[in-house]
Amino acid sequence: MSFLTLERVAKLWPDGTSAVRGADLAIQEGELVVLLGPSGCGKTTTLRMIAGLESPTSGRIRLAGSDVTDLPPARRDVGFVFQFYALYPHMTVAENIAFPLECAGLSHGERDAAVRRVAERLGLVDLLQRRPRSLSGGDQQRVGLARAMVRRPRLWLMDEPLGSLDAARRAEMCELIRVQQLQDRVTTIYVTHDQEEAMRLADRVVVMSQGEIVQVGAPGEVYDHPATLFVARFVGSPGMNLVEGVVHRGEFQPARTDVRIPLAHAAPDGPAVLGARPEHVRLDPTGPLAGRVALDAEAGPWRHVHVEGPYGRVLAQTVERRGALRGAEARIAFDPTGIRLFDPESGRSLA
Ligand code: ATP
Repeated sequence: MSFLTLERVAKLWPDGTSAVRGADLAIQEGELVVLLGPSGCGKTTTLRMIAGLESPTSGRIRLAGSDVTDLPPARRDVGFVFQFYALYPHMTVAENIAFPLECAGLSHGERDAAVRRVAERLGLVDLLQRRPRSLSGGDQQRVGLARAMVRRPRLWLMDEPLGSLDAARRAEMCELIRVQQLQDRVTTIYVTHDQEEAMRLADRVVVMSQGEIVQVGAPGEVYDHPATLFVARFVGSPGMNLVEGVVHRGEFQPARTDVRIPLAHAAPDGPAVLGARPEHVRLDPTGPLAGRVALDAEAGPWRHVHVEGPYGRVLAQTVERRGALRGAEARIAFDPTGIRLFDPESGRSLA
């Protein structure tokens, strides 16, 4: 049986906004699940309903075998984390970390043991008697993380806890959260709109759009096999290339061309959108699609070359440092195993 289940959970605000529409979700004990989606898609509302801070308009929430839908937050034994920083300046690091345990009524001895354990893991032992303002930004973040994760409730619920940190700090904190969570195995639900953060952290990603759960899967599965056009665009940086066209007898013909691209997987005849990640598109003088280079940008170990033709714009990823220049003619080819197809009407994956 799942540790946490949402059964047809919906939230309709009094002004008529439908924030969450019949969400079904089953989470196993010890999992780290990330709710991912753009601003306003209903992630925070879902998390707050799990915490008991909002009541669903309909549907049930079960935790560890009991129905908690009508239980107040204090009786659910969940830890809710908004942001890791904002430490109490007048308290030492040790007192800051111990604070949630004090609130939970743990004894001195229990508090000291728990603080020691988390401080050792996060390399904070030598800083325990310091005040927050004497610490570097990175150390303050780690103290905040220690305070958030020192208690071991039944669920950790985290709402964009990394706030406005820069990319390097985010990556570092994601790693620390993951390490902590793997050691304690407290079931965790983490909300973010940042797909890279989601990919880094999650056992499973739950992608939401307009109040609906559109896909649930391991990060690699969501990246490789997006269930909808929305997921294809939203996940990945940049997102998937999408080319409109039509499938006919095992081949894809991009719109406004007479080119036929053989498909590796069977797909029904009819209108379709071809999806391909940039790493599955290459510049190839013998490739089937001709166009012109609209943009040519360095992207770390790769170059991103945007090729434009009557079919639209397609981004190819290449390791070559030099080559296509803006305005030059170029041809592209798709790696057949990287091709995905979507129904243009419903947006759902076809193959
Ligand atoms: P963000 O990342 O911006 O917080 P989100 O995905 O977490 O977005 P929610 O905060 O859950 O989305 O909001 C979902 C929808 O519900 C939005 O349209 C939002 O404007 C609306 N909403 C949220 N809270 C309330 C409220 N208390 N009253 C009315 N509408 C609300």
